[in-house]
Amino acid sequence: MFIISSQAMLRKAQREGYAVPAFNIHNLETLQVVVETAAELQAPLIVAGTPGTFSYAGVGNIVAIAGELAKTCHHPLAVHLDHHETLADIEAKVAAGVRSVMIDGSHLPFADNIALVKRVTDYCHRYDASVEAELGRLGGQEDDLVVDGKDALYTHPEQAREFVEKTGIDSLAVAIGTAHGLYAATPRLDFERLAQIRQRVDVPLVLHGASGLPTQDIRYAISLGICKVNVATELKIAFSEALKNYLSTHTDASDPRHYMVPAKAAMKEVVRKVIRDCGCEGKL
Ligand SMILES: [Zn+2]
Repeated sequence: MFIISSQAMLRKAQREGYAVPAFNIHNLETLQVVVETAAELQAPLIVAGTPGTFSYAGVGNIVAIAGELAKTCHHPLAVHLDHHETLADIEAKVAAGVRSVMIDGSHLPFADNIALVKRVTDYCHRYDASVEAELGRLGGQEDDLVVDGKDALYTHPEQAREFVEKTGIDSLAVAIGTAHGLYAATPRLDFERLAQIRQRVDVPLVLHGASGLPTQDIRYAISLGICKVNVATELKIAFSEALKNYLSTHTDASDPRHYMVPAKAAMKEVVRKVIRDCGCEGKL
């Protein structure tokens, strides 16, 4: 009831021309920041975790904390599986209460990617869980997933049409020049390709690797059909930099209830900025 699928919120975003942010969270504090800030701004919210995050924090713990925050903040949200790679792992997490899934078969040959995603979609739709899949490959690193720049491939528009048709997915992650992690130089996104994908595909499109992208690029991508914007690195950096700063100037600090405060405040600023970039304030 409080943990919902991403389907309705992404379709609404598509109709109304904004994007829903997906924030990667890791623990109690980061969950508190994103849920409380989204509730303050009345913004739709997806909280995401990689397989590494769920191993670290425990899927039951994340679902329970997210559900409790959603209830106390009166703010239904999606707990989303980011870059999951096997049906077995997804089945276990859907059983634990997750209703929003990304299956990443982008490293597989096209036909194998379709076959894997179709199996996941058939399973998830029985439980009202929404499914995102990726076509093309993003460069950079997301947890244990490392893609060398030369292996990064842009999404082919005509393949995207076939992929969506044959898999029945609810949203499609596209590779148009973004990468996971931080950018050494501002990337040049292939907006022409995004427009061509949009013409052929009617499901909401997803932009990974938005940390550090200029606001104008995010907004332009949204105007061309991006309905979900993933942010991870930018949040981690704000949180850990503020924490390091505090601990280095308060060398006696030992109480997490104190030293977490500036870290959470710094992360909150990034969450606010992303919600504004996505144009989703007041869109719950
Ligand atoms: Zn990603």
